[in-house]
Formats: sequence, C-alpha cells, structure tokens
Amino acid sequence: MGKIIDGKLISKAVKDDVARETAELKKSGITPGLAVIIVGENPASQIYVRNKQRACEEVGFESFKYELPEQTSQEELLELVNKLNKDDKVNGILCQLPLPGHIDESVVINNILPKKDVDAFHPENVGKIMIGDYSFLPCTPAGVMELIASTGVDIKGKECVVVGRSNIVGKPMAMLLLHKSGTVTICHSKTKDLKSECLRADILVAAVGVRKLITGDMVKEGAVLIDVGMNRDENGKLCGDIDFESCKDKASYITPVPGGVGPMTIAMLMRNTLTAAKEQNGIGK
Ligand code: NDP
Repeated sequence: MGKIIDGKLISKAVKDDVARETAELKKSGITPGLAVIIVGENPASQIYVRNKQRACEEVGFESFKYELPEQTSQEELLELVNKLNKDDKVNGILCQLPLPGHIDESVVINNILPKKDVDAFHPENVGKIMIGDYSFLPCTPAGVMELIASTGVDIKGKECVVVGRSNIVGKPMAMLLLHKSGTVTICHSKTKDLKSECLRADILVAAVGVRKLITGDMVKEGAVLIDVGMNRDENGKLCGDIDFESCKDKASYITPVPGGVGPMTIAMLMRNTLTAAKEQNGIGK
C-alpha cells in the first residue's frame, strides 16, 4: 500500500508556524484579522466557515463573521465588502462560495481589494499567479503543493495530470505544477479518454466533484495521488474523487478524504491572512 499523506499533520505544522509568527507580530501591536462573509444557509458552507473561524482562534487571529440572510441583495453585500475594504482591523476578506443565484460572484470577488483577497480569486491576483509574481496563492492548490512537497517527490519533468479546470482549483493547480516544471495535462468533462490521460500521470490531482471517478485501473504504478474532491458516498459518508480502496495499492503516496487536502486549504488561508497583515503593515514583500 502507498504511503498516506497526512494532511492533518502537515496542516498543523503550517498553522503552528503561522501561530508562532502571529505571536511575534502581536508584540508590535499587530493582530491579523480575517473577515468571513456567509450568505444563506448552505450547510456545507456553514461547516467550512466554522472550521475557518476555529483555525483563526488556533493561530491567534481576530475573526469577524458576517452571516447574511439568503435574500441579501448584491448591493447590500457590496456595501459590506466596501466597508471591510476600508477597515484597518481586517487584513483578509473571504466571501464563502457559492453565493445565492441572484448575486453575481465575480462582481463580489472583483470588489474585494486585491491586497485583502486572501482566497486569491481577484483577477489581479490570478494574473500575478500566471506570471509567477504573487503574494497569495489560492488556498487549495497551494495546500496541494505543500502535500506534494512533503513526499519529497520532485515535480520537475514529471507527467502531471489535473482533472478539473475550475478557476478555483483546476486551473491554478495546473499553473503551480507548471511553475515547478511539471509537464502538465488538464482534463475536464469533454476529455475524450480520461483513463489513458490519467494512466500517464506520475502526479495526479483530482478536483472534479464526482465521487470515486478515478479507479485503480486508471492510475499508474507508483503515482502520487492527490484527491481534492469532497463528495458524499451512497451512505452519506465524505469521500473523494479517487476510489481510495482500488488505488491505494498502486500509488506511492495518496491523500485520504477526509484528512488530506481539506485541512491544508484552511491552513493556507491562515498563511495568506498572515501575509496580508504583514504586507499591509509594511512588513515583508
Ligand atoms: P467545479 O464544479 O467548479 O469543477 C469541476 C471540474 O471537473 C470541471 O472542470 C468539470 O469539467 C470537471 N468534470 C466534471 N465531470 C467530469 C468528468 N466526468 N470527467 C472529467 N472531468 C469532469 O468544482 P471545483 O473545482 O470547485 O471543486 C472540485 C471538487 O473539489 C469538489 O468536490 C469540491 O467540493 C472540492 N473542493 C475541495 C476543496 C478542499 O478544500 N478539499 C476546496 C475546493 C473544492 P468542465 O469544466 O468541462 O465542466
């Protein structure tokens, strides 16, 4: 069986680092602050927001939670974003997606000041990532890079296959692997032969949202398998896009769901918020 990449352990190391630096910053009167906005009652979003707030407490940040009703108008939400943009106590602003259908997510994202956009979704931050000169990386792909780094596997020259091309995960993921000199293939719902693409992968990242899409017959012996997917199986249990049971013996390293990418996403959000706080106070970059 391949080695399991322990996302909980690795994320704890990241959070411990952030907590140490935060304690130092506090000595000079700076406490990083993260504002989290949630609109509506989406149960999954409620859990994510709770976990993010808990992580803020763990590392010593101040967190500000704004729970808005489902029927909040786009104008009202933008008013709040603008208020937070101007608030010096708020270094990072996160608007939990998805937003209700009547609100245009891209308009909201575009109104968050890029220097407070700790999710790195704003077009200015996306552009910077493309160029390779950035302050923040989007949390999930950044977390995946940490998980791959923890294996000691060098990405340079490796066949990297990313399944999924969303703006939040798939596309930036591919870009980060490319920055590390991987040979990158991006697959999506129109890919003709997903199995043959996946079979070439030395490093396979699945970010699809289809439970157990990647099965053992689709992966190469010795591949590093990273599962971003968060789905529910037939019994309502959390599961990924990779069928862990049929893949674990072929992989050299594999992430579990839960306990793989999920905790890393939150840890990287903490790191981004710390970076934002430092930059806004003239420390660092
Ligand atoms: P999206 O729905 O935005 O994107 C899914 C992608 O998968 C699309 O590019 C789509 O292709 C592709 N796809 C769908 N079906 C297939 C298929 N049968 N074969 C190949 N490709 C397919 O999802 P996200 O990127 O936002 O999220 C992906 C998964 O990751 C979800 O399960 C989500 O919950 C999870 N997630 C987990 C996080 C974590 O912290 N662990 C954070 C963020 C997301 P096309 O573009 O052609 O439609």
